[in-house]
Amino acid sequence: MAMASEDVHCMNAGDKDISYANNSSLQKNMLLKTRALLEDTIKDMLSKILPVTCIKVADLGCASGPNTFFSTYEIMDTIARVCHKEHWEPPELQVFLNDLPQNDFNAVFRSVPALNERLKKDKGELRGACFIVGVPGSFYQRLFPSRSMHFVYSSSSLHWLSKAPRGDKGHIYMSKSTSADAFEAYSAQFRMDFSKFLRLRSEEMIDGGRMLHCLVGRNSTDPTSNDCCSIYDLLNKSLLDLVAKGLVQESDVDSFNVPYYTPSEQEVREIIEEEGSFNLDKIEVFEVNWDFEDDDGNKNYVFEKNKCGRNVAKTVRAAYESMLATHFGEAIVDELFTRYAQHVSEHLSREKTKFINFVVLMSMK
Ligand code: SAH
Repeated sequence: MAMASEDVHCMNAGDKDISYANNSSLQKNMLLKTRALLEDTIKDMLSKILPVTCIKVADLGCASGPNTFFSTYEIMDTIARVCHKEHWEPPELQVFLNDLPQNDFNAVFRSVPALNERLKKDKGELRGACFIVGVPGSFYQRLFPSRSMHFVYSSSSLHWLSKAPRGDKGHIYMSKSTSADAFEAYSAQFRMDFSKFLRLRSEEMIDGGRMLHCLVGRNSTDPTSNDCCSIYDLLNKSLLDLVAKGLVQESDVDSFNVPYYTPSEQEVREIIEEEGSFNLDKIEVFEVNWDFEDDDGNKNYVFEKNKCGRNVAKTVRAAYESMLATHFGEAIVDELFTRYAQHVSEHLSREKTKFINFVVLMSMK
């Protein structure tokens, strides 16, 4: 069975410690790094479209948890700050929070009053009224009316594919030994999904609208490079440990592929250009430690390997638990991630692999 990300993949603020809500500091770090770029983009966009009564903003793949409002707050705050600096009347805002229908939108909605309180306290009269709307659905389908959106944002969402391509037997993702067919299947799926995403958004955005997307990528054109594959190689290894113990069926490993792809910068550029609706204004590349608590002072390997292993395992578990439990059964999940934490700590004690993140800024042609 091919895993369809849209069926099983959704990161919610559950009540467990391993929930996405409790393990998303990686995304928070990324957002902080994009602050200056966000301000420049919003200022430039507003200078061209104001005065308008209401600016429509979307966050695609908002999840549910503290980060949902971290992004929204940042965007609202930036609009208020720019308007204040430039002496522009702050517009009203309508913010569309999108995720798959399984997302815990109730948890998101329950937090709206706290967000409004915080904005009132921090920004007072400097901002326009803000209206929050939930939009359940896949961003690989139409989400908004034609020509209605001004600013579309996403963080750590666009590397998720609409469905998992067929990979190699015994592998859950690409690896050093990936066949040309498996690589082609993954890169073709990303190309198809990302092109479709751009076409759909171009139908929904107003002229002069902007998009800013943060996604995980890879530094090299080689699809099997460590910065994109190691994190899954280690999960693969942990699953094969459980096969050896008789806890997991080998055939289940063969049929599991992660619906995820880390493109190279060149692929992102080519797809945007070929699809043709958007100008690619900027791509910035950031390296982020696998373990968000790890000290950048250690260049080649981590000092506290066990702690780092546990932290990385928590982050990956938060993202993959529901998918893995659906495919392999809940019973193996604890043991799988105990082994994974051990493999990750051994890996990081020898080599400090990092996530490569792209920030991609586009404007409607
Ligand atoms: N933006 C948040 C959450 C990132 S996790 C942050 O930066 O912290 C990725 C989110 O994308 C998940 O909540 C997942 O459910 C959502 N997602 C994945 N594929 C999606 C799709 N096709 N359409 C809408 N949301 C999707």
